[in-house]
Amino acid sequence: MPKLNIQAKNEKSVQLGVMTADSKTQIDSLVSPNFTAGDSASGLSLMAKRMVGSSILKIAWEIRAIKEQGVPLADMTVGDFSPEQFPLPDALRDAITNAMNQGLTNYPPPNGMPELREAIQAHIRRTQNLDYPLDAITVVSGGRPSLYATYRLLVDPGELVLFPTPSWNNHNYRDVCDVRVRAVPCGPETAFQPTAAAMEPHLGGARLLVLNTPQNPSGGVMAKEEVEAFGHLLVRENTARAQRSEKPLYLLFDQIYSSMTFDGHRHYSPVELVPDCAPWVVHSDGISKGFCATGLRLGWFFGPPSIIGKAVALLTHVGAWAPKPVQLGTANFLNQTDAVAAWDADLARRIRERLQILSDGMAALKKSGFDVDYIEPQGAIYMSLRFPLIGRTTPEGHTLKDHEDIRSYLLHAAGVALVPFDAFGVEEADGGGWFRASVGAASIDELNAAFPRLHDALAALH
Ligand code: PMP
Repeated sequence: MPKLNIQAKNEKSVQLGVMTADSKTQIDSLVSPNFTAGDSASGLSLMAKRMVGSSILKIAWEIRAIKEQGVPLADMTVGDFSPEQFPLPDALRDAITNAMNQGLTNYPPPNGMPELREAIQAHIRRTQNLDYPLDAITVVSGGRPSLYATYRLLVDPGELVLFPTPSWNNHNYRDVCDVRVRAVPCGPETAFQPTAAAMEPHLGGARLLVLNTPQNPSGGVMAKEEVEAFGHLLVRENTARAQRSEKPLYLLFDQIYSSMTFDGHRHYSPVELVPDCAPWVVHSDGISKGFCATGLRLGWFFGPPSIIGKAVALLTHVGAWAPKPVQLGTANFLNQTDAVAAWDADLARRIRERLQILSDGMAALKKSGFDVDYIEPQGAIYMSLRFPLIGRTTPEGHTLKDHEDIRSYLLHAAGVALVPFDAFGVEEADGGGWFRASVGAASIDELNAAFPRLHDALAALH
């Protein structure tokens, strides 16, 4: 009993933020684990030793520190949305809150709430003209679990995964899943998107091809003919492999930015264009980007039921369910089809408006004679900007020797925070000075204000 009394007192003192004699005694008696008593890391698995943290998040930390000093900054580093600039759709927030208030907070079924899977099925019919059965669709906690599960289920350790670069996160799945990778560099001529013809010579031995359109980091959108060409390529390759009794080539098709396309660019699935490639295509999607809901953790993937069934089993063991109130709220919102269409159109307009500031700003710099370049916006929340400044010297006499130096110079001299394509698997030699600009977390004013500073910083180089 006395113990209970002490606890009650302490709870109260914590609540009030006051340290009383009682709580002080309790803190003094807290046990600090002595981590130096042995070498914990010596027994880490090989996978854990291989794995590295996100280089983009490292840059984000540096930027946070600069922001805290109150320095004017256009933070175009994170592939996220600031909730001030891009809040959730009201109807989605209300529907999630309702589900929460009704106390619907226990485990959802492992493949997702039935009403959500039905809403996703209808959404896919409406937006992609594809009629997938319900057992071909499963709900997960964001975009990443479907990518991880697809790697895990379709590729054995040591087998080969193929993807174009720049590409987001594949090198991390390589480390976690212990697979080999073959990266095929793509250039600005195709807005850094691969062509089926360029990928075809590299298919030998590959078990999985990973494509992402609209693309992180470039903002490129794959043209309809190319998506179709990839569909035919899959059918051709797998017909030949079946004759040789070889394992098939699968396609992981990451379409998490599918609702964000501009200026005549449109998103297509290879299955819509070539239905016979369906046995080998897994689509990954979710609300993180399309509904500005990165923190709500809801995604889905759809593909052949035999693969999706295995994914449900795997992710049950990982526990990668999306929270039940988020599932129910998303089902409710997706079924408000007019509201969703209006949201999609308005979000695309707001993103495009910001990307136009970058496009106009870069065009003006180019016109002023600076050696810079950019690719006109096509989709997602990104744009490819080029600052080929290696070998140039700063006013302080420091010669920029690599992309990291350029990144750091643009950040400190111009308050322009970008991520070099090196973070997306591009070798510096092939990188050619390309950087990713993301507009989800910067305001219109911040983007506009960045260009005069950028002008002065470029002019200061010699
Ligand atoms: N695919 C791509 C191409 C992405 O850019 C991201 C997020 N940066 C994801 C998947 C994963 O999204 P989530 O945050 O929902 O895991």
